[in-house]
Amino acid sequence: MELSFARSRTQIGTQTNQPQTPSMKPLHPVLFVSHGAPDLLLDPGTTGQLWSELGASLPRPSAILAVSAHWDCAVPTVSLATAPETIHDFGGFPRALYSLRYDAPGAPALAQRVEGLFTAAGIPVSAASTRGLDHGAWAPLRLLYPAADIPVTQLAIQPQAGPGWHLRLGEALQPLREEGVLILASGAVTHNFGWLTVGATQPYPAAEAFADWLAEQLAGPGHEDLLDYRRTAPHGGAAHPTEEHLLPLFVALGAGGQGAPQRFAPGFTYGGLAMDVYLWPGSGAA
Ligand code: ZN
Repeated sequence: MELSFARSRTQIGTQTNQPQTPSMKPLHPVLFVSHGAPDLLLDPGTTGQLWSELGASLPRPSAILAVSAHWDCAVPTVSLATAPETIHDFGGFPRALYSLRYDAPGAPALAQRVEGLFTAAGIPVSAASTRGLDHGAWAPLRLLYPAADIPVTQLAIQPQAGPGWHLRLGEALQPLREEGVLILASGAVTHNFGWLTVGATQPYPAAEAFADWLAEQLAGPGHEDLLDYRRTAPHGGAAHPTEEHLLPLFVALGAGGQGAPQRFAPGFTYGGLAMDVYLWPGSGAA
């Protein structure tokens, strides 16, 4: 798939005739972002520009459910926080990053709605009363919705449970799209720190190969190979020595349904972190 950031960003917006919905209700878009390193916020570059443009162009959500690689629990867990704190869950970065905040209101009603959807689907679910926003959530949100005036809550992933489990979580969340909720999945298309080089000007070949394979899979019908990416993809296991940063993508895939997402490929951070964004467009007036 050869969609470039420059070509594909002209396609931001709503689409009609999405095949996955027999409902006449508008569907809100679903978004997956590769959040890269926290210092992106100090030098947003093309990725930050893309996030800003997406936030300005997409329909305004009623609330946001962030699914970040940086919160994991044994069972799916939502936060009931009414004023979620900004969690600086990283070390060794410039001091300026530790004073950044994202003071959006919490979304306990959305969290309870997620509890209800999972319960109805037979999926175990728990709630945390005060859990705030980790940088996988608030870093992209600062550029997507800088006013921080949209209620947001987080859903935890289960790193040991695999892609199929997270696809199922996403499928159970589909009704939220009819309620104007943005499902914001945040992880990484590639996440091998051994592939990173400070100052790299060219993508690490294996990272580029995996990212392009992923794009081809997401554009095509059926997701069997994608769900088995560690065996089927070029550098599949190496691209994700641990799986937690790719799992949010499967939540987005499940919520996005059968329609192919749009790929935005703004580049690579440190040569090895593909910064791809995927957007499952909305439909109708969403
Ligand atoms: Zn991360």
